[in-house]
Parts: sequence; structure tokens; C-alpha cells
Amino acid sequence: MSTLEIKDLHVSVDTEDGPKEILKGVALTIKDGETHAIMGPNGSGKSTLAYSIAGHPKYTVTGGTVTLDGEDVLAMSVDERARAGLFLAMQYPVEVPGVSVSNFLRTAKTAIDGEAPKLRTWVKDVNAALQRANLDPSFSQRSVNEGFSGGEKKRHEIAQLELLDPKVAVLDETDSGLDIDALKVVSQGVNRFAEAGDKGVLLITHYTRILRYIKPDFVHVFVDGKIAEEGGSELADQLEAEGYDKYTRAAV
Ligand code: ADP
Ligand code: MG
Ligand code: MG
Repeated sequence: MSTLEIKDLHVSVDTEDGPKEILKGVALTIKDGETHAIMGPNGSGKSTLAYSIAGHPKYTVTGGTVTLDGEDVLAMSVDERARAGLFLAMQYPVEVPGVSVSNFLRTAKTAIDGEAPKLRTWVKDVNAALQRANLDPSFSQRSVNEGFSGGEKKRHEIAQLELLDPKVAVLDETDSGLDIDALKVVSQGVNRFAEAGDKGVLLITHYTRILRYIKPDFVHVFVDGKIAEEGGSELADQLEAEGYDKYTRAAV
């Protein structure tokens, strides 16, 4: 059982002109077995929410709480958040030149489990995860995200998700820049993860396209740093037909 609970979250970002409030009171509870989609126009603060959960230093929480199974996530270091069972895939994954995918995954797994995975099964697991993400085994020797295509970055994240096996996955724009084949591979990976039953998924996206392949239990429309509307997966269909216009007009 695991629950990620966000209550009245206020977050400011440091800009050259000083702090600017981006998140203006976000409330969201993700229980195990639930897939939530956050959808909203560009600039509404979706990535800020993901970065805040991840503990990015540029984002300052000025109010509210984030807990995982009652533990204060905001008091945790980035590493502690991963060990607690949070997985965060960012909209713009960073390059780590000189660190191979293989070493990166092993280091991450070791940090999360507190012990190194057994080498023989680990190599097999990595190869299987890469294969399921439609990546060649030789991919494990490449430097992390260096020269990766948009699709390779996202498929690598899916392999990470499978290998690190978190409790809750926050996936920011996991669908952006993907062609239809890559979108299917990524969606299948997220669905395999979600179908384990005891996992929570927070899928952040601007486009409704991925929701043809991943059926969220709940859809939250994000506008101007807040949730403006909530519903089931039918809300995604409505957004696909109507766009965000009615929400953005209301917010102005
Ligand atoms: P979304 O992911 O929904 O497109 P973001 O969270 O990326 O939205 O951005 C929300 C708002 O916060 C935007 O107006 C953006 O310009 C601003 N913002 C986000 N991060 C920063 C930053 N590091 N510096 C300055 N402004 C930022
Ligand atoms: Mg954006
Ligand atoms: Mg974003």
C-alpha cells in the first residue's frame, strides 16, 4: 500500500526578478493502483509540480505538504525520495557524459536498494528491460542521454522505471516528441508498471494523444498553477475535442 498525498502546495521559482509563485494551492492524492493524468496548457505549472516533488533546488515550497505513506517528502533529499519509492522522469532529461547507461542504472538500483544487485541476474534484467523498451543491448554502453533521440530518452526512462520498480512514478511529458511506434512502446511500459496493481502513476501531459493508450482513472485539468477541473478518463476525451480554451479564458 502506498499513497502520495499533496496538500495545498504552493511553490515559487527563483527568477532574475526574484521569486515568482507558480503553484497556487495544489491538492492531489494518488493511491496505489491508480493512474492519474495531469493535463493542461503550456506554462500552467505542470513541470513545476514534477520538479517540486523531485526536490529540484530552483523550486521553493512556500506552503503545503507532500507525503508518501505519511512520510514528509519535502524534508527528504533527492536520493532519499528515490529510496522512499518515488520515481521522477523529467520533461528534459539531463545528459551525463562519461557515465554509461549500464553504470547509471546499477548505481541507481544500488542506491535505492541499499545493496548492489547480483551481477548475473542484473545483466539479464537490464537486457530484458532494454529489449522491452525496444532498445538494442548495445544501448547500455552509451553515455546517459548524450546524443539520444527524443524517443531513446523516453524509452530509456521506461527501462529505468521497470528496473528501479518504484512505488509511485511521476512522468512529465513522457509522450512529447514521440512517433507513434515509440509512443506505443512507452505506453505499454507504463501500462505494465501500472498493472502491477500496487503502483501509483502520475502522468503529466499537454497532449491527449497518449491517453488513447494509457487509460487514467482520474484526469485533472491544470490551469495557472491550480487544478481547475477533475474527472474520469471521459474528461480527456472532452479535452481532446474542445482543447483548453474554456479554462484559459476563465483564468484570465
Ligand atoms: P508547464 O510544464 O505546464 O508547461 P512549467 O511548470 O514549465 O509549466 O512553467 C510554469 C511557469 O513557470 C511558466 O510561466 C514558466 O515560465 C515559469 N517557470 C518555470 N520554471 C522556471 C524557471 N526555472 N525560471 C523562470 N520561470 C520558470
Ligand atoms: Mg511546457
Ligand atoms: Mg512542462
